[in-house]
Amino acid sequence: MKKKRLRTELVHAGERRQLPIGRPVATPIYATSAFTYDSMEEVDQVFSGEGGDFVYTRYGNPTIAALEDALVTLEGGTAACAYGSGMAALHASLFACGLTPGSTVLASRDLYGATFALLEKVFGIAGVKTVTADFNDLEAVRAEAVAAKPTVLLAETISNPLLKVCDLAAIAAIGKEAGARLVVDNTFASPFLCQPLTLGADFVIHSATKYLGGHGDAMGGVAVAKQEHDRLALVSIMKLAGGVMSVWEAHQILRGVKTLGLRLERQCDNARKIAEHFRNDSRLVRVHYPTLSADGAEALVGRVLLPPHGGALVSIELKENTREAAYRFMNSLQLCVRLTSLGDVFTGVSHSASSSHRELSPAQRKRLGITEGLVRISVGIEDVNDIIEDVDQALSK
Ligand SMILES: *Cc1c(COP(=O)(O)O)cnc(C)c1O
Repeated sequence: MKKKRLRTELVHAGERRQLPIGRPVATPIYATSAFTYDSMEEVDQVFSGEGGDFVYTRYGNPTIAALEDALVTLEGGTAACAYGSGMAALHASLFACGLTPGSTVLASRDLYGATFALLEKVFGIAGVKTVTADFNDLEAVRAEAVAAKPTVLLAETISNPLLKVCDLAAIAAIGKEAGARLVVDNTFASPFLCQPLTLGADFVIHSATKYLGGHGDAMGGVAVAKQEHDRLALVSIMKLAGGVMSVWEAHQILRGVKTLGLRLERQCDNARKIAEHFRNDSRLVRVHYPTLSADGAEALVGRVLLPPHGGALVSIELKENTREAAYRFMNSLQLCVRLTSLGDVFTGVSHSASSSHRELSPAQRKRLGITEGLVRISVGIEDVNDIIEDVDQALSK
């Protein structure tokens, strides 16, 4: 059959595997820890990997495999492995890059806070060094790649919370020159807006807890590899570290993926309208939104994200740039939910300085441009006028 378009794949990918009894239209939840066969010879064959079937759910399960197949299709990879959370997926893909004592990770300095903690506290004690660079400054990344001889470059498609879009193709080229592999955390964009493997990345990971699930009711993570030979390492860390995704979560997330296109089109549309509405508001010093950036980055955004979209997150900086003012604004919201997550169908707000970047010193936060009055809005699918009215009344408090 002809290759289908992404909006079609979102609805069908991974589903309707052949069973002896016909094909269910939606993949059932195979709530079973193990699988049995008619003879020990068959079990032996499956164990040896020749049968291609399932033996034990920590090694694989049809419900989880359906989600993995969907992500391979959507991201344009060859192998995917699902885990219990986005952090487990990140851990697995870094592991799969072959980090050993003495090797170096060159990471974007704007990475998700817990990712830095993973690099320092888990890989760090195993002798892996982490150096950082501003991934929006390609010359700085190139210089650091030459100096540090990294094994891995670690980037995010859209940074948190200032929402800077990374030139993934250029970063991939720098990685190739340096002989390093590129891992991209594509959580903020989702495969609907960006497919990093097609831009040169070796691994893409998602916190499926966010846009893939999309309803605030499931946790999970997925790693997708570009090359078939990376499958073994991804599967091996899943089997041995055991951070597997639950079949219930896999079912919820696969259900979520079907509406990812619809949700994100609406969410991105709402986000752009919110950014435009508050752009020149006198109660704010700045609105951060990729397609409205002050530094002429629109062309880059169009190359990395699906045009005309700029993502579904908007960050605002209050004129009264203090924690008190941010809390007062957030406490006054009546529709938008205060939470530390993102990517759900409902609009949520988070205060970066006291949540994702809490562990950093005030000086470190200042260097990254994360002020006390900065609030990140994860825009939902509600009527945009209701979101605008809620933000407007809360800004007036
Ligand atoms: C949430 C998040 C993670 C971690 O995912 P969990 O599912 O919470 O483990 C990693 N990266 C980014 C960008 C995230 O937003």
